[in-house]
Amino acid sequence: MERTYVMVKPDGVQRNLIGEIISRFEKKGLKIVGLKMLHISRELAERHYGEHRGKPFFEPLVDYITSGPVVAMALEGKDAVSTAREMMGATNPLKAAQGTIRGTFGMDIGRNVVHGSDSVESAARELALFFAPGEIIEYKRDIDNWIYE
Ligand code: UDP
Repeated sequence: MERTYVMVKPDGVQRNLIGEIISRFEKKGLKIVGLKMLHISRELAERHYGEHRGKPFFEPLVDYITSGPVVAMALEGKDAVSTAREMMGATNPLKAAQGTIRGTFGMDIGRNVVHGSDSVESAARELALFFAPGEIIEYKRDIDNWIYE
């Protein structure tokens, strides 16, 4: 089982999409093992998006992600990283496949509603940035016998 970091970005929160987005991951079968709302500081934003420092969209990206509260999630499941990425769709919502979260709800790359880790390594780094060890909850779900064979 793998874990990934997913976040409803400030536009998703403002547009009342928190429930819709969480619901999609829940219905898929991914298990929520961490969940909280927070207002990201500039320092945390710059660390989270450190790989993009120096790019033209870096400052607007930090402004955007700190512009209002976000909902942070730790999701667990089979191939959780790639599964969540596929459900989100391409970075540019106009290029994202219809039916994906970004393809369904987004218009602009700088307002693409949701974040998801792009590799197992990024997931570990991002989960550690956003969740203290005690905030990731291990538990069993009886329904897992109906989700996994
Ligand atoms: N972004 C942007 N303009 C760009 C590229 C990226 O505003 O030209 C933003 C966008 O919000 C994206 C985030 O920066 O989600 C991180 O970019 P990345 O390439 O890592 O895409 P992601 O992994 O989020 O699909």
